[in-house]
Amino acid sequence: MDAYPALSTTPRRLLMGPGPSNVHPRVLAAMATPLVGHLDPAFLEIMNRTRDLLRFVFQTENELTLPIAGTGSAGMEAALCNLLEEGDEILIAVNGYFGDRLSEMAVRCRARLRRLEVPWGEVFRPEQVEEALREHPPKVLAMVHAETSTGALQPVEEMVQLAHAHGALFLLDTVTSLGGVPVEVDRWGVDACYSGTQKCLSCPPGLAPITFSTAAREALRNRRASVQSWYLDLGLIQQYWGQERIYHHTAPISMNYALYEALRLIHEEGLAARFARHQLNAEALWAGLEAMGLELFVPLEYRLPTLNTVRIPEGVSDARVRGRLLNEHGIEIGGGLGELKGRIWRIGLMGYSSSGENVLQFLAALERVLRAEGLRLLPGAGARAAADVLERGAAS
Ligand SMILES: *Cc1c(COP(=O)(O)O)cnc(C)c1O
Repeated sequence: MDAYPALSTTPRRLLMGPGPSNVHPRVLAAMATPLVGHLDPAFLEIMNRTRDLLRFVFQTENELTLPIAGTGSAGMEAALCNLLEEGDEILIAVNGYFGDRLSEMAVRCRARLRRLEVPWGEVFRPEQVEEALREHPPKVLAMVHAETSTGALQPVEEMVQLAHAHGALFLLDTVTSLGGVPVEVDRWGVDACYSGTQKCLSCPPGLAPITFSTAAREALRNRRASVQSWYLDLGLIQQYWGQERIYHHTAPISMNYALYEALRLIHEEGLAARFARHQLNAEALWAGLEAMGLELFVPLEYRLPTLNTVRIPEGVSDARVRGRLLNEHGIEIGGGLGELKGRIWRIGLMGYSSSGENVLQFLAALERVLRAEGLRLLPGAGARAAADVLERGAAS
């Protein structure tokens, strides 16, 4: 046996977990494009077009819009460490795992952290946030738009208005929303916003798109001390992505090729059509799961279509079900994080993974696995309910 078998032996998976999502063949092919140098005029052109397309998906005119080299967490760290310095106050709304991560990073920036909390799976109401802002206005109010650990979608427009009314900058994590549900940076007035490539943008992990408003750039310019991270200093990175073209670090060329192609696909599909596709496929999944007698974790009112959470039925083994889905059906879904471990499954429908066929294939596989666990299910009920929703969607 070959001790080092070729990567071509890697199994094909249907990626329906919390990310990465499946990648369009055109994006995979783009990564095989021969390299040019990071200051080659041809690459600079690709950078310009990528920046235009990022402004398109973020729905912004922000000058400072670029992909950070690193995954979504690098985007998170860049947003925080550029805006915060020692002693600055930040208010973070925590309703899941990624709000916790924001908090941990803010503390490492030596900021003074105040946390506003609601139970995991819920979202914040404007009154709660306003009260906390009034108590003591922070420099930054931060929130997660799409909490990947719970499947809740936080309405943000009013939150931005409240932050601004109290003189705070508004920072938003859109790692699991950008490219899947509307993110309107300029219309909402979001000051700092970051995402990751491997979720709804359907690109491999490795870049973190970020955008800063004029006010956020002003805060960056008015810092007392330089940004504590040299690598994530947006002022320095912008000198490479902006007019000056000054070398900072070597851009990950192939990842930028992939992002460019993924963004081209989004542009071709159109944002409205893309959001409608994500919503319809999620509604089909919800109908299917409910027809199988399963209970969705998040109320319909603020349920996220890109990451769907469902309660694990009594007496069913979380690990065994996910193991069988993976090993017998080639489908990856996620388990619960933190306090939701063992209580929910997380089913992603992001980007290229969000299709009617995938929903039907998943429901059929889940039915077989749950029947093997001893659950009594009406054969085909889930897939039929989902197919009805898809058919109505196709007709409208
Ligand atoms: C995945 C995720 C992150 C972290 O991204 P990585 O690419 O894993 O570093 C941050 N925030 C949210 C909401 C996420 O879903």
